[in-house]
Amino acid sequence: MAHTIEPATSGRAKCRGCGRNIKKDELRFGERLPNPFADGGDMTLWFHPLCAAFKRPEALVEVIGESSLPSKDQLEQIIEVGIAHRRVVRVDGIQRAPSARARCRQCREPIVKDDWRIPLAFFEDGMFNASGYVHTGCATDYFGTAELIDRIVHFNAEVLSDEDLVEIRQSLQ
Ligand SMILES: [Zn+2]
Ligand SMILES: [Zn+2]
Repeated sequence: MAHTIEPATSGRAKCRGCGRNIKKDELRFGERLPNPFADGGDMTLWFHPLCAAFKRPEALVEVIGESSLPSKDQLEQIIEVGIAHRRVVRVDGIQRAPSARARCRQCREPIVKDDWRIPLAFFEDGMFNASGYVHTGCATDYFGTAELIDRIVHFNAEVLSDEDLVEIRQSLQ
């Protein structure tokens, strides 16, 4: 079955990209995949269109052309970046390292406690799996683009202060 864009029939489904609810009647993107638990069956993963543009650009691009999504131009730009720089789809917000135990996936050095780090989520077998971090200072090298702040802010669970944003922007350079 092909992917779909359709209004949400209830407000209960959670977006796979951000984990927040998708409001009833809001247009949502449904990515159809073979269900690993049912022979020959399909499953549908629901996303806010913006979350899908950030995290599943190759799936959303298949149906966005025919759709009547609002802000289609903006979504198509995000899709383009995600297809050109394949690792950016892994960005899953930002956080200060709670300890110095994790190593950066780019430079392999430990990430100092309280330093900013970008958590990565890999899409595998229909699921996002959290797997590792990169220094904000290594992000441009790792992701192949400096266009990262919008997706960092979008997938961050907490609202970042203006001070934090300035610091993050600087450390991304
Ligand atoms: Zn979402
Ligand atoms: Zn690093």
